[in-house]
Amino acid sequence: MQEAPLNPDAVLAEVFGHASFRGEQGDVVRHVTAGGDAVVLFPTGAGKSVCYQVPALCRPGVAIIVSPLIALMRDQVEALRQAGVPAAMLNSSLNADEARAVRDDLRADRLKLLYVAPERLVTPGFQQMLQEAHISLFAIDEAHCVSQWGHDFRPEYRELSRIAGAFPGVPRMALTATADPATRADIIERLGLENARVFASSFDRPNISYTIVQRDKGKEQLRDFLAAHESESGIVYCLSRKKVEQTAEWLNEQGIRALPYHAGMDASARSRNQDAFINEDGVVMVATVAFGMGIDKPDVRFVAHLDMPGSIEAYYQETGRAGRDGDPSAAWMCYAMSDVVQRRRMIDEGNAPEEVKRVERSKLNALLNICETTQCRRQAILSWFGEQHPGKCGNCDNCVFPVDTWDATDAVIKAMSAIYRTGERFGVMHIVDVVTGKTTEKVTRLGHDKLQVFGKGADTDAKTWQSVLRQISASGLVAVDSEHGGMALTEAARPILRGESRIMLRRDRPKAKSARRSHDGAAMSSGVSSLFELLRSARAGLAKTQGVPPYVVFHDTTLRAMAEAKPTTLDAMAGLPGIGKAKLDRYGAHFLKVIAKAA
Ligand code: ZN
Repeated sequence: MQEAPLNPDAVLAEVFGHASFRGEQGDVVRHVTAGGDAVVLFPTGAGKSVCYQVPALCRPGVAIIVSPLIALMRDQVEALRQAGVPAAMLNSSLNADEARAVRDDLRADRLKLLYVAPERLVTPGFQQMLQEAHISLFAIDEAHCVSQWGHDFRPEYRELSRIAGAFPGVPRMALTATADPATRADIIERLGLENARVFASSFDRPNISYTIVQRDKGKEQLRDFLAAHESESGIVYCLSRKKVEQTAEWLNEQGIRALPYHAGMDASARSRNQDAFINEDGVVMVATVAFGMGIDKPDVRFVAHLDMPGSIEAYYQETGRAGRDGDPSAAWMCYAMSDVVQRRRMIDEGNAPEEVKRVERSKLNALLNICETTQCRRQAILSWFGEQHPGKCGNCDNCVFPVDTWDATDAVIKAMSAIYRTGERFGVMHIVDVVTGKTTEKVTRLGHDKLQVFGKGADTDAKTWQSVLRQISASGLVAVDSEHGGMALTEAARPILRGESRIMLRRDRPKAKSARRSHDGAAMSSGVSSLFELLRSARAGLAKTQGVPPYVVFHDTTLRAMAEAKPTTLDAMAGLPGIGKAKLDRYGAHFLKVIAKAA
């Protein structure tokens, strides 16, 4: 029995409650619904899942979605069921009875989407079962797992190339949020998708604001940043387990609900904290990079880094966990030169071959340049991924508060001469003591107070000298020894010492501001925001009784639209984004009551 495909726009409106597709989604959906193969390269938050969910509902039969992430499968299946779609998953988290029920549903043609783990898909038994079913399409999510270039390589993904031969005529799609060109080429080759149409959208995340500040008192700076994000969910990344624990504890003392997460905790405490982050509103997760993979929470409003990551790729991926729902979100980092020294030491002491270490060092330097740039940060990040951006994004700290620069040539020469005259082996603190003329025990013991340069920079404060030294090492005029932090001049320093070129440095801000834009460019009025909070708590209640995360009921975006429009009838509510037919039937009356009561 062959039904004709349904209309994608009608499905999008009726099931998902959206009036139109975002960006290139519509092109992908129409192409696949018509039977074409596709490679979809969209950044996180661009709505990749809609690209297979809508065709799955438009085409006859069941769609097979391959995903390596159990948490993500569970969320998607739950969200689809809430929208009235028969969806299921098969993976190691199911017991034998549950798995049997899913297989029965598959045989009886009762499913529209089936999520499976890759190792399950390639078993002969499952392949046989699929041959007897009516398949509408195959979607391979997290397709970068097929590539050895990435960090998430999964050998089972290589087997997925067999699908093409086993199911001729069934459309196949591969989807990933990985921006790296080598990985993209690998996906196409390894999955036999040479003839597929490639949909690549910009990797810009316009709803994320970028702010990078120098670390002074890291915890206090973090607290000031968090003050603008009260009752919002977010992640704070730290480099070490110890720092994770200390930071979480300190935040709790400050009255901020923060939970730790790192690989050294026992598994049950870790998963309890992860569940709380997913299922409750307004939890701050303080974590090492062990946290984040497979977390599909759409309303993470900020990602803060208390230490510098190791590369632009890592920074982009970690900050990218904010704002998947498209609402304004903040990426905030504070860093110090000591981070760079520590990262360099980690690379030097690692077991990687020398050529890999060289690449890692240059990746670290590229991120350091983004930290030190006076230009648009978004432009600099995207340019690392080979993408042109005109700059002046208006949503990074450098664009919102343009950086003041000064001609620092004379100061730089003084600093370099202090480094040179003391034998090119001392770190920032000692050099600052020498230029500012501070007679410490070390200075007098080494006779550095007898040097001509001693006290030559006494008219400038120590903070400014630290900033000068930081910037000249970031720009490569000075090399920093990764073991002791000792500084030495490089070849690049010569033209400045000889007076052949001048150097401009950024003037560090006394108090760094965050570039975050408020929602929709204007803060919610107090009436709207108090109704929003009421709707949020109604949502929390509904989610809790069903044992699902709040965002599975409705996204923040939908609640905000409700708070602004204050609908009084089901018809009016149906026009809001994210409210499809099934959810309107299920929750509409409940939320109308909350709105009426607040009026
Ligand atoms: Zn910018």
